[in-house]
This record gives sequence, structure tokens and C-alpha cells, in this order.
Amino acid sequence: MAHFNLLQEKILKDGVIKSGNVLKVDSFLNHQIDVPFISELGKEFYSLFSEKKIDKVLTIESSGIGIACLTAIHFGVPVVFAKKSAGSNMDKEMYMTEVMSYTHNRMNHVVVSKKYIKQGEHILILDDFLANGCAIRGLIDLVLQAGGIVEGIGICIEKGFQGGGDALREDGYPIKSLAIIEKMDADTGTITFREGDKS
Ligand code: 5GP
Repeated sequence: MAHFNLLQEKILKDGVIKSGNVLKVDSFLNHQIDVPFISELGKEFYSLFSEKKIDKVLTIESSGIGIACLTAIHFGVPVVFAKKSAGSNMDKEMYMTEVMSYTHNRMNHVVVSKKYIKQGEHILILDDFLANGCAIRGLIDLVLQAGGIVEGIGICIEKGFQGGGDALREDGYPIKSLAIIEKMDADTGTITFREGDKS
């Protein structure tokens, strides 16, 4: 069985739907990390992007770091995680962008050191969730500021009904999601996945 089906099964078994279209997967991804399971997802990302030249994996703190490491190990490359910064002061050592936080409903400044993304580097962007796409667009912005190349975007759980992933596909980004939720209902606790291709 393909791993993205394993992720769907895990979401159905352990995911908890909260109000505000938030899916909690704290038991294996966002609080406790089920390392053997997440490492299977890392292998899946590797097989999805192994044809690409990847110099670095970029994610955003903190929930993306585990899956980014367990993917980067197969490419033999470093992980860079963008940091959420309290201040908005321009620091000439950093690239900075703004990201609206979906779960906290506030604007975060997100930074990455100029030392760790360089002109011409081929970057694989990874994150745990994709909803409206703000976090991923922020990471793309950081790569472009640095003169890097977005080789691929990998998402563990895309909430397809929020449209961020399809908008990125329409913009031509090579985005692959291991599970795409088409519908979820907090009252009945039901989750429906988009079937077919992973992208
Ligand atoms: P976006 O920026 O695409 O709207 O939201 C993506 C970011 O918000 C992810 O980095 C993730 O941390 C958080 N997020 C969005 N939706 C969910 C959700 O349903 N559950 C969890 N746990 N995090 C989410």
C-alpha cells in the first residue's frame, strides 16, 4: 500500500477535527512525533522529488522540522527552518517576509539568515499542513529573495477545500501533498479525501 494511504488511515484513526477547520494531529505529527511513521513520509517525499536536484530542504518552525529532517536525510542535504521573529526590524543579515498564521490568526514576521540560502541553490520546501497557502508563499518569497530556485513543495496534509494548494498549482508550482482533505465536518467527525493523484 502506498504511504499516502497510510497517512489517510492515520488521520482517520488519530486526527481530531476542531472548530475553525483545524485538524489536530498532535498524537503523531504536531506535538508527539511518531518517528517511525513520519520517517515513512520522509521516504515518500524523497521518492516524489528524487529526480530533482535538491541542495537544501526549507521549512518553517516548528512543526515542519521533524518531517524536513526525515526527508533531507535521504537527499543527504541540510535542513533550514525559517524562524518566526517577534520584531519587524529589518536586519541586513536576514531575509524577512510576513506570514499570516492560520492557527493563531496573527501576522508573523518570518526570517531566514542570508548565510543559509544562497543564490542559485535548489530548494525543496516542506511543511506539515497547507490551508490558505500563506506559510508556503512566505517560504517561496524567502527563496526568491535569496535568488534560489523552488524545485518542489511537499505537504503532509493539505486541506484542499481551503484552496491554497490549487492556487499554487495554478501558479505553476510543483506541489505534492501526501493527503488532501476535500471535506471535514466537526459535528459528525467525518473526513473525506481527494482521491487520485497525490499532486
Ligand atoms: P496556511 O498558511 O496554508 O493557511 O496554513 C498553514 C500553516 O498553518 C501550517 O504551517 C500549519 O502550522 C498551520 N495549519 C493550518 N491548518 C492547520 C490545521 O488544520 N491543523 C494544524 N495542526 N495546523 C494547521
